[in-house]
Amino acid sequence: MTTSKILEIENLTINFDGFKALNNLNFSMDTGELRVIIGPNGAGKTTFLDVITGKVQPTEGRVLFKGKNIKKTPEYQIACLGIGRKFQTPRVYLNLTVRENLDLVCNRNKSVFSTLFNRPAATEMRTVAELLETIGLEAKADLAATLLSHGEKQRLEIGMLVAQSPDLLLVDEPAAGLTDEETENVGALLLSLAESHSIIAIEHDMEFVRQIANNKVTVLHQGSVLCEGTMDQVQNDPRVIEVYLGQ
Ligand code: ADP
Repeated sequence: MTTSKILEIENLTINFDGFKALNNLNFSMDTGELRVIIGPNGAGKTTFLDVITGKVQPTEGRVLFKGKNIKKTPEYQIACLGIGRKFQTPRVYLNLTVRENLDLVCNRNKSVFSTLFNRPAATEMRTVAELLETIGLEAKADLAATLLSHGEKQRLEIGMLVAQSPDLLLVDEPAAGLTDEETENVGALLLSLAESHSIIAIEHDMEFVRQIANNKVTVLHQGSVLCEGTMDQVQNDPRVIEVYLGQ
């Protein structure tokens, strides 16, 4: 079945011992969209990504990825379906060089993804040199990752995700702890990736949200969608102002 929706989430509820971290949440996004998700602490943003990636099983509801229900897909298979997740803290191999980090993912994909899951090997689609150019780290390719700045590590990890040729990229607070310049670089990278990927970015930093929100922003509150719209619409929405002022 073909669908223009990369992700559709219906009536999603997560009950943690009686507490609803997600409460009858409905969400959908088009293929090729960059969607930014904001919301106060505890709104359910991370849990939302945990459900999409199979880390947490919903109590109720459906998660459709490219029209297929993936609710019961185990976490280790989600990446193979084409969903890549970047956590807040960069998970790169610090003792390996930038190039070796990218090489490792490309080679792993070649064997695991293509053999077991019949997905194209990343190396056929992206070479390490292309990835280095995409993330703007050509000049640092032979440096150990431990010597990179925090922002550069974030970009390297994003490159490692892109090497998996994901259809949907989930990015959790990529600007956290970055300098203004690094924030802008990571934003520019996400905007360039958005030309060829569907992306969900969770973010707190409103300057950064303004930089990358090229379409719709979704506001989560108490485990549900409070409102959606352009950045201008949501930041002028009295419900959003109330929720943020109430923090
Ligand atoms: P956000 O990312 O928006 O800050 P989270 O998704 O981390 O919010 O958390 C939403 C709510 O669910 C919070 O109140 C949090 O304490 C609660 N929560 C998250 N994971 C668990 C868990 N495994 N058990 C119990 N409560 C949880």
